[in-house]
Formats: sequence, C-alpha cells, structure tokens
Amino acid sequence: MRLAATPDEAAFRADLRAWLAETLPTLPPAPATHDDWVARRAYDTGWQRTLHDAGYAGTSWPTEYGGRGLTPSEELIFLEETERAGAPYVGCNFVGTLHAGPTLIAEGTAEQQATHLPAILRGDHVWCQGFSEPEAGSDLASLRTRAVRDGDHYVVTGQKIWTSHAHVADYCELLVRTDPDAPKHKGITWLILPMDAPGIEVRPLKTLTGVSEFNEMFLDEVRIPVENRVGAENDGWRVTMVTFSFERGTAFVGELLGSMRLLDELSGLARRVTRHGATAWDDASIRHELAEVGADLDALWALIRRNVSIAQAGGDAGPGGSVFKLAYHDTRNRMGDVAMRLLGRAGLALGDPLDLAVADHVEERLYALSLSIAAGTSQVQRNIVGERVLGLPKER
Ligand SMILES: Cc1cc2nc3c(=O)[nH]c(=O)nc-3n(C[C@H](O)[C@H](O)[C@H](O)COP(=O)(O)OP(=O)(O)OC[C@H]3O[C@@H](n4cnc5c(N)ncnc54)[C@H](O)[C@@H]3O)c2cc1C
Repeated sequence: MRLAATPDEAAFRADLRAWLAETLPTLPPAPATHDDWVARRAYDTGWQRTLHDAGYAGTSWPTEYGGRGLTPSEELIFLEETERAGAPYVGCNFVGTLHAGPTLIAEGTAEQQATHLPAILRGDHVWCQGFSEPEAGSDLASLRTRAVRDGDHYVVTGQKIWTSHAHVADYCELLVRTDPDAPKHKGITWLILPMDAPGIEVRPLKTLTGVSEFNEMFLDEVRIPVENRVGAENDGWRVTMVTFSFERGTAFVGELLGSMRLLDELSGLARRVTRHGATAWDDASIRHELAEVGADLDALWALIRRNVSIAQAGGDAGPGGSVFKLAYHDTRNRMGDVAMRLLGRAGLALGDPLDLAVADHVEERLYALSLSIAAGTSQVQRNIVGERVLGLPKER
C-alpha cells in the first residue's frame, strides 16, 4: 500500500483546498428542514452545477465522457478535502453520479451516453434506482416487475420499493423481467425509465427519523422505448453486477469521512453536556469509548486506502468492500450508543429541547440502523466473507 502523496496528488490537493476555501462561503444556505425534497433537490443540484463549472464534477469519470479522469487515489483526496472543508454532500445526485452514470459509460450506447452523461454531470438530471421489490431484496434476481415487448416499446407493470429520491428524480435505473420462463438470472433487463412517463405512481414512505427519503413506486403499463435498454434483452443481471461494482466500490468513502467529523462534534458535545455536576467528558468510560470508535474509524480509513491501492494497481480488491461495510456498520452503531449514553434524556427526542445541537446525533443514531440493510444486508455480506475469505461451503 502506497501512503506518500505523489507531486501531482499534492498539487491537486492544494488547488482543491484553495478552490473550496474561496467557493464554500458563496453557497446559499442548506434547506432548513430535512424533509423539503424540492428544496433539497435544488440545493444538491446547485452544488453539482458549481462542481461542474469549476471542472470538479465526475472527478473519476474518463475525460472523454466529461469527467476529470482522476486516479482512485486522487478521487480519495477529492472526497477527503470536500468533507474536511464541510462541502455539501452528493445528496440527490448520488445514483446518477456514483452508479447510473458509470454504468452508462461502461454499457450504454453512444446515444444514451450523449443524452444522459452531460446532464448528470451538470446536475440537470437526478436519477433513482428501481431495483428492490417487496419480494426481491437480498434475492434481487427474484424480481417480478414484468416488461412485455410491444413494437418499439416495452410495456412495464409491477411494483418497486425503497426507491430513494424517486419523488424528485427525472430518470430511474429500472430492472424488469423480460423472460419469465428463463432461469431467474437470465430473464432480466436493465432499462432507463423517464420518471414523467404516464402510468407511474410514487408514494413516499416515512423512515423512523420522520423523513420521506424513499418511496414505493407502482408501474401500470408504462411504455418505455426499446432504445432505452442498456445491454441486451435478458442480459440485465450482468449489467446489474456492473452497477453494483460502482455502488459498492467507493460509495461509502464520503460516509466514513462524515463519521469522523461526527465523532469530533460528539467529543465537543461531551464537554458541554453536564450530569451530576460534571461534564460527560469527565467520565473516563465515555472518553475511552469515544477513543475506541476514533481508532476504529482510522482503521477503516486504512482499509479503504488498501482497497483503493489494490484496485489502482489493476487488482481486484475482492471482498474488501464487504469487510469494510460490515465493520463500518458495527463502528457506527457503537458510536450511536456512546452518543445516546452521553446525551442521556436529551437523546430521547428528535428535536433539540436543550439547544445543545443534539438533534443531528439522535438522527444519526437512528440512521446508523439502516447501514445493516442498505446496499446489501450484513447477513449477505457475512455470506460473501464466509465463502470468499474463509472458504466455507457455498450457500445453497
Ligand atoms: C436507506 C436505504 C436506502 C435504500 N435505497 C434503495 C434504492 O434506492 N433502490 C432500491 O432498489 N433499493 C433500495 N434499498 C433497499 C435495499 O437494497 C434492500 O432493503 C436490501 O437489499 C434488503 O432487502 P429486503 O429489504 O427485501 O430484505 P430481505 O432480503 O427480505 O431480508 C430480510 C432479512 O433476511 C436476511 N437474509 C436474506 N437473505 C439471506 C441469506 N441468503 N442469508 C442470510 N440472511 C439472509 C437479511 O439479511 C435480512 O436480515 C434501500 C434500503 C435502505 C435501508
């Protein structure tokens, strides 16, 4: 694993740091409430446009597709510096920039690339992911949403669920069943669904933090042009693996860096919260737990750098992403437990009754629970580690 920065990497970091210092103070304020999705979309796409205009959009995309063509190490620097400076998160743009766009680069036609890639980079188009169904999550290949060919169109009927940002999206990466008689992995097709097509109903679902981040999506005879197919008919499972390789690759790097910032804030909060005449920070067991979480986050950062170094050298980081996700979920939940312990009764409400800036920590504690499910559950990651690292027999 290479730890020292090359001269190019050091120069890239210095330029980016200067640009962030100049640009961030000029941004509009973030939306006041987390559940105002129109405002959140406008804010997130505004930031994407700012990145685009300065040449920082799609940093890891190849230059011929409008990206900056950075190496994975430089991409890590980009994520590290933007997080350190407190820049906005990728937000509503995450499906488009992190995995739909890269899938189109790898598998799309020249027309699909010309239509969608510049619009994703400019922040003009927001994408969502229509993969999961009520009966198809971990076992995604069991999906039943049906597409029947009718001339130049597929006619699609079925239901998707947990579709993040569908209520503010322009396009959806949609998995459909085109051959119900083929073995389940062989009858799936990957389509680009325009979200304004007639026959789509999106119903927001509230999460336990009270925010409607994801949705149910009902499709009733929705007509999708055949030219919106990515890859061959019935070859969608292979294209899905391409999408997952991007989704499970570096998608959690920004999250990890955000967790490091959250831990710093939590340590500051511990010095202000008082119980029985002393601050939480005076309690040695709290300090000990915060230090342990900090050490684990540092170890996870080293694991990410290892995975990136292997990938950059042309290797396959293998199950490194699964190991990372398992350990990250565990660390984030322990961090949430310390937060609840040091907040005491203030941690029982989602609002901020004591005006101690605790609301974020309560919300983050609840959010951490979802990390055992999103992008593949912990049990499924354990199966991967069991089979590919420990050599255990394959699951039936
Ligand atoms: C925050 C968040 C955002 C999401 N966003 C999207 C999105 O935008 N688009 C989208 O399509 N989906 C999205 N999802 C859905 C997510 O991909 C699924 O929830 C996930 O794949 C699990 O599927 P499931 O909910 O159907 O659970 P199930 O697959 O039904 O699993 C139920 C339980 O059984 C266990 N289990 C299942 N199979 C096995 C096995 N083989 N071995 C051992 N245990 C097993 C699971 O680990 C779990 O504990 C999102 C989920 C979350 C939490």
